[in-house]
Amino acid sequence: CGLMLSVSLTSPLSLLLDLLPPGVCNLLNPAAIYANNEISLGDVEIYGFDYDYTLAQYSNLLHSMIFNTARDILIEQFKYPEGLGKYDYIPGFAIRGLHYDVQKSLLMKIDAFHYVQLGTAYRGLKPVPDEEVIELYGGTQHIPLYQMSDFYGKGPSLKQFMDIFSLPEMTLLSSVIDYFITHGIEFDQVHLYKDISDAIRDVHVKGVMYKWIEKDMEQYILHGDEIYAVLNRLVNHKKKLFLITNSPFSFVDKGMKHMVGKNWRDLFDMVIVQADKPNFFTDRRKPFRKLDDKGSLQWDKINQLEKGKIYKEGNLFDFLRLTGWRGSKVLYFGDHLYSDLADLMLRHGWRTGAIVPELETEIRIINTEQYMHSLTWQQALTGLLERMQMYQDAESKQVLLEWMKERQEIRSLTKNLFNPQFGSIFRTFHNPTYFSRRLVRFSDIYMASISCLLNYDVNFTFYPRRTPLQHEAPLWMDQLCTGCMKTPFLEEMVHIR
Ligand SMILES: [Mg+2]
Repeated sequence: CGLMLSVSLTSPLSLLLDLLPPGVCNLLNPAAIYANNEISLGDVEIYGFDYDYTLAQYSNLLHSMIFNTARDILIEQFKYPEGLGKYDYIPGFAIRGLHYDVQKSLLMKIDAFHYVQLGTAYRGLKPVPDEEVIELYGGTQHIPLYQMSDFYGKGPSLKQFMDIFSLPEMTLLSSVIDYFITHGIEFDQVHLYKDISDAIRDVHVKGVMYKWIEKDMEQYILHGDEIYAVLNRLVNHKKKLFLITNSPFSFVDKGMKHMVGKNWRDLFDMVIVQADKPNFFTDRRKPFRKLDDKGSLQWDKINQLEKGKIYKEGNLFDFLRLTGWRGSKVLYFGDHLYSDLADLMLRHGWRTGAIVPELETEIRIINTEQYMHSLTWQQALTGLLERMQMYQDAESKQVLLEWMKERQEIRSLTKNLFNPQFGSIFRTFHNPTYFSRRLVRFSDIYMASISCLLNYDVNFTFYPRRTPLQHEAPLWMDQLCTGCMKTPFLEEMVHIR
């Protein structure tokens, strides 16, 4: 009898409107800074930055350029089939944080518990049926990551794509596999993976990509003027600034001149290029080298790091020794959770800020009525299932089955709002993704772009939302704090926007 009410639930709309608290849409601000850990900017004296995708945000045009160039390297230098030339970059095919199983040619999204999110395993450009995925992993959707991958997601058989540059890499990998499968061509998975990562690396490392960006900054670099405002404001408040990047000096110099102006170096106490992160943070072997003003390498031993000079390579241990910039008075921003942030958080005790550009679009989706409706309905159904599962008579069982099916459908629908193949970078259905867990572990705060800093006072304290643990009740009233208020947009900053 408990389930007789189910009939009315199949037309959800009116009920849904009752479930949705008023004003719940458009609640989150994509320009807010979100905190995992309490941090007071007033305590931060020194701000460090990565360059690519942290200070410099690139337009999506870069992805198609990387894709096309790497594809042509495959055809021309690696002698892959000419037919690959028909494949163009597919914007929005892949998302960051996916894992790739080299032996099985599977690109997939894995959650915080190392389970594949069913429906998100792709071979080539086509989804692999759930049953096949489970079969491939010996009757389970659990992936033994620690046997297959190292801490930085670079194991022999399983790779995690964490870089924003890896979006074209994943898409190229999937396109080439698609070509081989549709043409019935046998291929070696290991060679294929290696050739594609080599081709992509050639585009970065051999400097082809740097040339495009340098040639047309306007096209490739987004909202540079806000970067100037961020850095300038920090300096005006007597903060020290430094840069640690893996990119070469001439490239960074041109980009910074474009965004900040020709005197950009005056804002920084220290600039370190070609740092070879993450080894920079873990390995003491490489000493610092100095570059002269023209960017030529000097041979002298470095006994101090001087303001206004450019250094190359080096390591964090020498950096700490020479600057004394230790512990939580330093806040370092980067976009790569492993290469930029993990070691700082786990070993060195600097505070960390993650730049996650995807936040902007994801929050815009979360703010839509459609998303709110699906999610609320999904949660209502989940609650019903939980409470009503004890009714085991034939009729009730039938209703429960229908609810489960409906819940499954809504979950897929909600997932597809973010990305039809892989969903959100932060969630696999109800769980956090593997990416999300790493984000929470390695960053004190995270935000869509460094310019979000402009929305906060330089002494602002970020308080993370006290999300209830599973055994706790949500009794406190601060559940709608972070990001739900219109951020305290500062009057003085209005002219910059
Ligand atoms: Mg970066």
